[in-house]
Amino acid sequence: MSASDISRQCDLAIVGGGAAGVLVALQALRGASRALHIALFEPASALAQGIAYATPWPEHLLNVPVGKMSALPDAPDDFLAYLLQVDAFPGRSRDALAADYAPRRLYADYLQARLEQAGAASAARLEVVHAAVLGLQPGPQSQQLTLASGEQWQARQVVLACGNSMRPLPVPGAEALPPGKVVDAWDYDGVRLLAGDGDLAIIGSGLSMADSVVALANAGHRGRIHVLSRHALLPLAHAHGGAATFDPQPLLAMPLRQKLRVLRGHARDAAAQGLPWQAVMERIRPLGQALWRGLDAADQRRFLRHAVRYWDVHRHRIAEQVHAQVDVLERSGQLQRHRARLDTVLVLDGTLQVHAHGANGGFAPLQVSALINATGVETRATAMRNPLVQQLLADGHARPGPHGLGLDTSVEHGQLLDANGQPHPAVQVVGSLRIGTLWESLAIPELRGQAQQAARAAVA
Ligand SMILES: Cc1cc2nc3c(=O)[nH]c(=O)nc-3n(C[C@H](O)[C@H](O)[C@H](O)COP(=O)(O)OP(=O)(O)OC[C@H]3O[C@@H](n4cnc5c(N)ncnc54)[C@H](O)[C@@H]3O)c2cc1C
Repeated sequence: MSASDISRQCDLAIVGGGAAGVLVALQALRGASRALHIALFEPASALAQGIAYATPWPEHLLNVPVGKMSALPDAPDDFLAYLLQVDAFPGRSRDALAADYAPRRLYADYLQARLEQAGAASAARLEVVHAAVLGLQPGPQSQQLTLASGEQWQARQVVLACGNSMRPLPVPGAEALPPGKVVDAWDYDGVRLLAGDGDLAIIGSGLSMADSVVALANAGHRGRIHVLSRHALLPLAHAHGGAATFDPQPLLAMPLRQKLRVLRGHARDAAAQGLPWQAVMERIRPLGQALWRGLDAADQRRFLRHAVRYWDVHRHRIAEQVHAQVDVLERSGQLQRHRARLDTVLVLDGTLQVHAHGANGGFAPLQVSALINATGVETRATAMRNPLVQQLLADGHARPGPHGLGLDTSVEHGQLLDANGQPHPAVQVVGSLRIGTLWESLAIPELRGQAQQAARAAVA
């Protein structure tokens, strides 16, 4: 009998054991009132790490304060309570810790601890299967999953929590460059191993660039760091203090240009009251999905073409200490920022020659010893290097979301929509795959709500 002849059964299959999948499992265990069998599929050996929380390095900080990172919508201080309970920061006061940005690795520890507790107290049973799901065939009664080993599973309900795929380096022949010369920013140990006297280039100037820069600095890098990106905008810093107090509701019905104009006005008002512009972003933060959905398709396209980069640096901010460290390196000249589009990378005598063209044409090629791909999350469904996503699209079980971003899902229930726009009632999606539908669907404040909703529907 081959592996594919064996078909195992479960009530709920969760595909992906990063933060989002673990949040779904946690909520399903808490909500189950009978002996359900929940299977969580994750190829990595550790749960809850995914991409963001897999870093072991203390300089990689959360970009959301501790007080807002609870896994549980009904217990907003739960992450804070966990850090206090394990005495992760001896001597730090509760209030100071709530406003602080903790090392990201602690967040995976927290989710693992809460999952274990929920499993011990639940009527349901959680089975972790360390394998990737390569295929999903939704059916009226049962959903069939195929694992990389060929093993088959039948599930009553499925939640897809496949998370983030990295964009490939945007140059032809990138995959043929010598191993060790091109490192992904999410290879946290690999980046640190590049530290030394040689010059390096980082492609991309967002959050993953900041991760790489602080890792290199903390590993004692002495060479120059060239940061190349089309807009060369660096992430901006958080600021202490709360949200502004204006009523954000009228923004929802406004077209894009008016929204942006009114927001700039609120930022000026905030400044007049001695508040930083960040207070305005905090005020509209909970409305991210409504702001996106309130734009018509043409305005969403305009936003993606003209405003998204400016939006991203204001919305996805970094801890002040990370920002300060990047800033010091730039002021010292060790970090050099280039507004340029990458063309080719050549290998010459063991070094890389990076060719690009600047906004105004000319750009002298850079000689570097290695290159870091920090181009970030791939949001276009058809370009995602996840075999399951590609199988769902190829078989018509899914279609790209609005503007080709992520997979299309129903707004209310997060159900996967097929090629004809029909929902699969037993297949729900959480997290970044919903970006086209919701836009704000990446960070824990959104994921914990989606996970609770998906788990409730699945165990009902
Ligand atoms: C570098 C970085 C830092 C971040 N920092 C923060 C932060 O401080 N605060 C915050 O709120 N958000 C942060 N985010 C946003 C982050 O995306 C979410 O908080 C969260 O980590 C997303 O978890 P996820 O499970 O959806 O995705 P991922 O972390 O990408 O995990 C997805 C998991 O699914 C598995 N998987 C994928 N496909 C399959 C398959 N076919 N079969 C089985 N398993 C599969 C993968 O192996 C992976 O473990 C950060 C994101 C990044 C990239």
